[in-house]
Amino acid sequence: MSYSSNPGTFGFETTQRLSPTADGLGRDGARYGRTGIIHTPHGDIRTPAFIPVATQAAMKGIPPEQMKDLGAQALLSNAFHLFERPGEDVLDEAGGLGRFMNWSGPTFTDSGGFQVLSLGAGFKKTLAMDVTGLKSDQVIADGKERRAFVDEDGVTFKSPLNGNLHRFSAEISMGIQHKIGADVMFSFDELTTLMNTRSYQEESVERTYRWAQRCVAEHERLTEVRADKPYQALFGVVQGANYEDLRRRAAGQIASLPFDGVGIGGAIEKRLLGQTCAWICDEMPEERPRHVLGIAAVDDIFAGVENGGDTFDCVSPARCGRNGAVFTRDGRWNIMRACMRHDFRPIESDCDCYTCTHYTRAYICHLLHAHELNGLTLASIHNERFFVRLLDEIRASIDGGYFDDYKRETLARFYAHGSKG
Ligand SMILES: [Zn+2]
Repeated sequence: MSYSSNPGTFGFETTQRLSPTADGLGRDGARYGRTGIIHTPHGDIRTPAFIPVATQAAMKGIPPEQMKDLGAQALLSNAFHLFERPGEDVLDEAGGLGRFMNWSGPTFTDSGGFQVLSLGAGFKKTLAMDVTGLKSDQVIADGKERRAFVDEDGVTFKSPLNGNLHRFSAEISMGIQHKIGADVMFSFDELTTLMNTRSYQEESVERTYRWAQRCVAEHERLTEVRADKPYQALFGVVQGANYEDLRRRAAGQIASLPFDGVGIGGAIEKRLLGQTCAWICDEMPEERPRHVLGIAAVDDIFAGVENGGDTFDCVSPARCGRNGAVFTRDGRWNIMRACMRHDFRPIESDCDCYTCTHYTRAYICHLLHAHELNGLTLASIHNERFFVRLLDEIRASIDGGYFDDYKRETLARFYAHGSKG
């Protein structure tokens, strides 16, 4: 099956589907997992794919050439951070995000909604959350610390960079993302937390729908105005927290609009991640690509893939690398531990990354303790490669018809020692 909302510029085709099973989470036991190809003006992405996060048009400590070498197919940057610094006009002048950072492959930007809204809540950048049982809208509206205010038209917030008051709306986000010039953009949505009340979640889903309609209108206008630039695809974002009816309603709303793809976003309790993806896929046309925003862990990736996710972004490899935590087939562990000081093996003997083929655990341990920047670089290269390769292997397992075995063996080994992540 092939789908192209804009022939010759952006499209998605499915290669292989996962077969239904008795415990499949979709309609009639459906499993929406699949392999496919996303076509963009800057090249193809074979899915499922891991999309590393280059927040400020840069991977921390890793040049783009090295990202290509370790197999990254696309990079995701942050519209809000680039709006704050250096400003979207600089990226437009440079010829777009990819050219600005010397990355010739496909690029994504998120809408800035997450960053703007999380100023009000202060929660972590992960999709899956632990729920404390507390239900209160005051969680994101707490007194002096509150830095973001939502109204019908958009969000007003105080810059974390300089304290200036800014305004984000559907139209402003689209204007910024068009100037940044990524191949895939996301509509401006309101993010809630799992602690918000049910009635607030309902209001928020409806508001996000109205913002989505405005994003589409502004996107179509800007696409026409900027017809000399490469086509930029727009994905609509589905919210609705943990509520099945709200997720289904939101997915139906996004499906009714001419988006090029869908972003599965918002707060989701970890145990419901796969189920939430399946609810959304139930309501969506199958031919649109699906991006799962802000995945947190290896088991979340499997749950997301099995239930229809095509692309995934995750800050864990970089964030963990900075603190010496490395991802391996045998779990996540810290390379700064004392026992590493005399360990002259690579992080993983069967890893093909630049770090593992050139450097020892002892050396990386030393660099990180000495706060040498190369320590961050080497640990991050390995971690990014770990996730890129994980998705490459998952893709091969779906095409080869052995996904279930691969999933079982990989998760059993990764979590055998009670590893986090
Ligand atoms: Zn490695």
